[in-house]
Amino acid sequence: MRVSVAEDAGGTARPGPIDYRSVAADPADLVTVAGTDGVYRYVSGASRRLFGWEPADLVGHQEDYFVHPHDLQGFHVARSALTTTDCVTTSYRFLCRNRSTCWTETTSRLVRVNDQDLVVSSVHDTSERHLNTSRLERQAFTDPLTGVANRPVLMDRLQRAILRLDRNDGVLAVLYLDLDRFKVVNDSLGHRVGDAVLLQMAERLLRHLRPTDTLARLGGDEFVIVAEGLPNEFEAVELGRRIIEACREPFQVAEEEFNCTVSVGIVCTRDSQRGSDDLLGEADLALYRAKDHGRDRSEIFDEDLRAKAVGRLVTEQMLRQALTEGNVVVEYQPIVDLSTGRTVAAEALVRVRDPLRGMQQPDSFMEVAEETGLLIEMDGRVLADAVAQESGWQLRLPAAHFEVAINVTARHLADSGFQKAVINQLDRHGVDPGDLQIEVTERVLLEASNSAITGLRDLRLAGVQVGLDDFGTGYSSLAYLRQFPLDFIKIDRSFLRELEAEEDGRAVVGAIIDLAHALHLTVVAEGVETEGQRRILRDLGCDRAQGFLFGASGTPEAIDRLVMAGSGVP
Ligand code: C2E
Ligand code: CA
Ligand code: CA
Repeated sequence: MRVSVAEDAGGTARPGPIDYRSVAADPADLVTVAGTDGVYRYVSGASRRLFGWEPADLVGHQEDYFVHPHDLQGFHVARSALTTTDCVTTSYRFLCRNRSTCWTETTSRLVRVNDQDLVVSSVHDTSERHLNTSRLERQAFTDPLTGVANRPVLMDRLQRAILRLDRNDGVLAVLYLDLDRFKVVNDSLGHRVGDAVLLQMAERLLRHLRPTDTLARLGGDEFVIVAEGLPNEFEAVELGRRIIEACREPFQVAEEEFNCTVSVGIVCTRDSQRGSDDLLGEADLALYRAKDHGRDRSEIFDEDLRAKAVGRLVTEQMLRQALTEGNVVVEYQPIVDLSTGRTVAAEALVRVRDPLRGMQQPDSFMEVAEETGLLIEMDGRVLADAVAQESGWQLRLPAAHFEVAINVTARHLADSGFQKAVINQLDRHGVDPGDLQIEVTERVLLEASNSAITGLRDLRLAGVQVGLDDFGTGYSSLAYLRQFPLDFIKIDRSFLRELEAEEDGRAVVGAIIDLAHALHLTVVAEGVETEGQRRILRDLGCDRAQGFLFGASGTPEAIDRLVMAGSGVP
């Protein structure tokens, strides 16, 4: 089909008949004809629809007048290629009448009409396709919630920054950030509020960074900052301080204010031989210490921390071995009724027998056991042992009731298998659920998910007693505790120190006991070591007590002897 461009209703100039099909693959495309001087001679009516320009607005003007400045170079290269080849395709942004831009793919040919060389172009609008690819690119490189870099981008930038240490002076710092108690916000207020806090957090962080710094979110509430070219380590610590301070301001979400501080682990290096994974791992270790030292603070990585990390590995190895070789040992500490002086219960406390170093106490392995998840298996063993011992005591001891207590961690509570394991063990040994006590710490309760709390409730409905361990070492008030399903509290032994020496100490413990009783909670005092403490606690109305005064932890048989002695049975 040979048509004349002059037939186009919207057209203007008449350069003579040309093969329309050879130019525009898509009839919706814009067709233009320009001289070799680059001036438009003809513009089809599609310019109106595609770019908002009337054909008359363009004719007589230079083509490159409508090309985005960033794309000019490519545009001119394509044009000059037309002298050696008869068809080129180039991609550039067309400037629209409303000052926006449109991505195009333009195919141009050199055509000779009436002894005149003309450039005939078909301009195809590719904005949509471009938008989709840039969206895909964005998705591949950014964290969808906050729009900051994601993990692959972070690792790439960190790698490059390390290599640049070869050429540049200054210190490279990696700051590993984690929101404190973010899980509490997320669980109690919902993910929408949590997301809003994370978004505000990213905005705050960006305000404290230089354009050359990288901010990435690694998922959850973890962010990482890579800062290059700092004059010294102090500047890295200073950056950490500014960030921590910025996060102390409450976050505002839908009229409500939330406090959510941040902990920061910092590692600095000038060594271009370091690995990016190592650096991130060291910053993470430092972050761990910041959390350990009370949160809302920063710690900088040093070799001492590395030594600790090695120590952790050794402990983990010991625990794994103990689990496979049957070296997890359960000891029992007596709990006495203060009004009668009788041993009425025992708390199961775990120990690990190490062939090299002897019997290990929880403070040397508990942290590692919890971190590695091995504690779940250990607690399972303690549960089985405690319920088995309980059934033995019920057979051997004369008292109507003898109770056994076990300790449980947050992760275990959230595990639905745990409730089943408890019920199974009780069934298997024919133990009354009411004779099993489960102790959880405030931290466990605060960090527990809804499903963990439901799990506790279910166990309590089944008759198991649930108690709060180490009461007073956390931040919750008794009133706050009302929302949790509890039967007893154990007053932490730190309260007992002042019991004999100070009037105030006695008043505080007395108030705790009275309040707990008002909430129908049984009160157990922990760490009772002296006769004086025992007397005061009894006078204050405390129900039960546990401590070296009555006995340290030992074998189940040692508990038998104590109960027999207390009951008058030889
Ligand atoms: P906890 O539950 O508060 O246990 C009481 C701790 O205080 C025990 O330390 C016990 O030996 C110690 N203690 C008892 N009476 C006295 C006293 O009169 N004076 C002093 N100074 N200390 C006393 P242990 O056995 O080292 O346990 C430490 C912590 O480890 C426990 O604190 C508990 O939180 C955790 N734990 C122990 N066994 C287990 C277990 O089987 N599972 C879990 N998840 N945690 C456990
Ligand atoms: Ca306990
Ligand atoms: Ca305790």
